[in-house]
Amino acid sequence: MTLQPQPVDRTLWFETALLPDGWARDVRIGVADGRIVSLEAGVARKAADQGGDLALPGVANIHSHAFQRAMAGLTEARGPSDDDFWTWRALMYRFLDRGGPEEIEAITALAFMEMLEGGFTRVAEFHYLHNDPTGSAYADRAEIAGQIVAAAQATGIALTMLPVFYAHAGFGGQPPSHGQRRFINDLDGFADLVSRCRTLTADLPDAAVGVAPHSLRAVSPEELSAMPALAGDGPIHIHVAEQTKEVEDCLVWSRARPVEWLLANAPVDPRWCLIHSTHVTETEWRGVVERGAVVGLCPITEANLGDGVFPAAEFTRAGGRFGIGTDSNVQIGVAEELRMLEYSQRLALRGRAVMADPQRSTGRALFERALAGGAQATGSASGLSVGASADIVSLDASGLAFAGRSGDALLDSWIFGAPTGSISSVWRAGREIVKNGRHMAREDIEARYRRALATVLG
Ligand code: ZN
Repeated sequence: MTLQPQPVDRTLWFETALLPDGWARDVRIGVADGRIVSLEAGVARKAADQGGDLALPGVANIHSHAFQRAMAGLTEARGPSDDDFWTWRALMYRFLDRGGPEEIEAITALAFMEMLEGGFTRVAEFHYLHNDPTGSAYADRAEIAGQIVAAAQATGIALTMLPVFYAHAGFGGQPPSHGQRRFINDLDGFADLVSRCRTLTADLPDAAVGVAPHSLRAVSPEELSAMPALAGDGPIHIHVAEQTKEVEDCLVWSRARPVEWLLANAPVDPRWCLIHSTHVTETEWRGVVERGAVVGLCPITEANLGDGVFPAAEFTRAGGRFGIGTDSNVQIGVAEELRMLEYSQRLALRGRAVMADPQRSTGRALFERALAGGAQATGSASGLSVGASADIVSLDASGLAFAGRSGDALLDSWIFGAPTGSISSVWRAGREIVKNGRHMAREDIEARYRRALATVLG
C-alpha cells in the first residue's frame, strides 16, 4: 500500500490561515500536482472546496530515530548500579538482536503516522541501523534504508533521508564495540549507501537526501572531511555536545569543546544542522549564528534523557536558527515539542514568554522559527506560499481551547492550552491523509506495529 500522493488538483478553503506575511481570513488555496498554485484571501467558500477552520503550514521534524518509538516508556527504571542509562541500553540491545527489516518498517511507519497526526509533514530520518543482527552488511547495503522509504510511502510523509556514517566507539578513532555492530560502515560502503538512498527516493515525492556523520565520537576528522562532498546539495546533520561527558571527552582528545572543534575544523555553513548543541559557551553559539547553521533541538527527548538546556532564548535573539526534532520519539507532536522548549527556557531563566519577540507572541515566534529552521535543515521549502508543496495542518478551532481567540492567541492556545488531538486534518501534497485526527491507514499500521512488537519484545 502506498499513500504517497498522486497528482492532486483541488481547492481548499480556510476561515483563518497563517501565511508567510501573517494571519489572513477566508483563504482559498489552489493545488495542482500536489503544489500550491494560487492563494487568495478574503474570498467566499465554494461548494467544492475542501478545508477547515484554521490552516497552518506543516512543520519539518529535523531529527528522528524512528525505531526508538517502540522503546518509549520501557526505559524508566534504574539499573543495579548508578548507571541511569542501564535499562535504555539493555532494551536497545534487545532491539538490535531481534529487529529485522519487517519489524523496523512497521515501527517506523507507526512513528511517521504519528508525526503526521501531530503536525509534522516532513521527517529527517537520522538512519543508523544499517547491518544485520550479526553485524554483517545486508546483501543490499540499503536494505533497512529501503524499509524507511517504504514507511514513508505507507504514511505519505515527506522524507529527508539522512544515512548515518558511524565508524568508532569514541574520540580518537577507537574501534567499535559489539553493541555498535549494526551501525558500522567504512567510507566506501557509506558512499554506496548514500547513492542507493538517492535511487530509493528518486520516485518519492518531495524527498531529499543528505548525510549524517553520527558524532565526533563516531567519526574521525579525516572521515568527517569526506562528508560534504557526499552530501551533494543535501543537508549535513551531526549529533554534537548533547551531554557533559561528551564535552569532557572531547576536551581530553582535542583540548577543544565539541562545537568549538567543529567550527574550527569543519566547513559549517547553512547546510549544516547541529543536533542538540546542548552544552555550548556563548562564543560557541555565536559562532553557530555567524555560520548560519541550524541548531536541531529535541526538547522532549532532551528532557527525557536529562541532557540539559540549550540557551535558545539568547541564541534566537542574536539571530540564531533552530528546528525541532522528535529524536527518540518518546512522544510525538509539534505543539508538545514547542511547549517543552519554552518551558525548559522559563525554568532555566525564571521568566515568562522568553521566546516571544516584540512582533510575535511566544507561540507564533516558536512556530515560525521552527518552520523556517526545519525547512532549512531538511532541504525543503516552508510555509503556505505559491510553489511550495501543499502541506497543510488544520486545527479544529471549534474546540474549547480556541473559544474567543484569534491571531497569535490561536497558536498560543494550541501550544499551551489545548488537549492533544486538536489537529483535525493534515494534507500532504494536497491530499488529506489525516481526517478527524486519524491517519487514513491507522488501522493497518497499528496492526503491523503490534505484530512487530510481539516479535521484538516477545
Ligand atoms: Zn539523535
